[in-house]
Amino acid sequence: MDSSGKPSTAQVVVLATSSALTALFYSIYKSRATTVARLKGAQKVTIDQGLKNILSETPGRCVPYAVIEGVVRSVKETLNSQFVDNCKGVIERLTLKEEKMVWNRTTHLWNNTEKVIHQRTNTVPFSLGSPDDGIAAAVRVVRPLDAAELNLETTYENFHPTLQSLSNVIGHFISGERPKGIHETEEMLRLGEAVTGVGELVLDNDLIKLQPPKQGFRYFLTRLDYDSLLRQQGNSVRLWRILTVVFGAAACSTLLYILWKQYHRHRASRKERSLLEEFKEQQKRRMRELNVEEGSVSPSSCAVCLSRERSCVFLECGHVCACVQCFDVLPEPKKCPICRATIDRVVPLYNS
Ligand SMILES: [Zn+2]
Ligand SMILES: [Zn+2]
Repeated sequence: MDSSGKPSTAQVVVLATSSALTALFYSIYKSRATTVARLKGAQKVTIDQGLKNILSETPGRCVPYAVIEGVVRSVKETLNSQFVDNCKGVIERLTLKEEKMVWNRTTHLWNNTEKVIHQRTNTVPFSLGSPDDGIAAAVRVVRPLDAAELNLETTYENFHPTLQSLSNVIGHFISGERPKGIHETEEMLRLGEAVTGVGELVLDNDLIKLQPPKQGFRYFLTRLDYDSLLRQQGNSVRLWRILTVVFGAAACSTLLYILWKQYHRHRASRKERSLLEEFKEQQKRRMRELNVEEGSVSPSSCAVCLSRERSCVFLECGHVCACVQCFDVLPEPKKCPICRATIDRVVPLYNS
């Protein structure tokens, strides 16, 4: 806070940043809370023989937001793991990540970093069926890669370290980057895996489909069951709520601090003005007592005796308003005649 009373740049930056983050976190919190509310309101549907009949009697042959729990079944073909024998699935994702250490110039530490250098996802059409093999009914899953929280199972993982020679090592210290190696993973959604899908359920001709729901509703496909999915989403809502409250409190306290400072500055300047008015009144009275014309008093004459020149500075207030002789006869404790601040030190003025 400078003397003009304007908030400092740092205060404005803190206020702006914390307000912006609060707004951002609040909007994320809101959308997550809406997702959880919709998830709770979604209609639970069991995969059985009657499902087709229920859907054909529903208006639009569609349940806008439905939860189904089932096991993964292939439709025609399946994908084979490229690394594990007899491991079949319907989604396969291969990822190559480069791992390296990067020198941080600020903290003076080597930090681990990862970068995806290649990723490929293969899918074949699949459906969710009842865990009971005797029930043939199944729900075809449409556009599974659009789903949130699609956590696949890691079926293979390997690390290929980078060979280090002495000249390489010296080069790495100079460049500040030290490659560690390539991390290769294969993840799959395997046949028979229990999966929970949340989305729009439609009966299209003779096929029951689970597809991405209408705008604003989230499509879920997860290996968690419905209750764990709800719990996981609920935890994320809590996290964003805490962040919103923390940053909101920071924004409010910064704003209050700035306003409090402004108020104090305003009060101090009002007090100063009223003291000055009072002093001028007093001086007029004194001029009348001494029978001195207002015009005949020089602006640089001592405010107490109105005759000698002002010849000292009062500290800490800094007023130059009296002569040394008048200062000496001021009653103890000595106070500045203008602002009434206690005089800690007095410094004589030397006019040259
Ligand atoms: Zn004087
Ligand atoms: Zn003063």
